[in-house]
Amino acid sequence: MGLSNRSIQKLNTCHSDLKKLIEAVAEEEKCAVICGFRGRYEQEKAYYEGRSKAKWGTSKHNLKPSHAVDVVPLPLDWNNIPSFEKLGEKIMQKADELGIKIKWGRDFHGLKDYPHFELI
Ligand SMILES: [Zn+2]
Repeated sequence: MGLSNRSIQKLNTCHSDLKKLIEAVAEEEKCAVICGFRGRYEQEKAYYEGRSKAKWGTSKHNLKPSHAVDVVPLPLDWNNIPSFEKLGEKIMQKADELGIKIKWGRDFHGLKDYPHFELI
């Protein structure tokens, strides 16, 4: 298993705790990193397209290194919510084992952001 080069590139823009966590999870679960650090243009685009509720500078994806990471299960099927739940449970459990405190976007109020995990 493990991560693709594209996933690794994105993960490399993230805080070392998130890197450690997602690398450990990827040993056991097929997954891909779809977003790490998000620059100003990308953040504003995501905001206006409704993919993010955060304006530039208010998202943990805008910190350098990024304090947020978006991870999806493979094979990717956005309608397969149980596959996101399963991966998310695994990530939360592994974070607990490693002593890394994170919050899952599933638990946000309003729009549930299943692929999103951020440092507290
Ligand atoms: Zn996110």
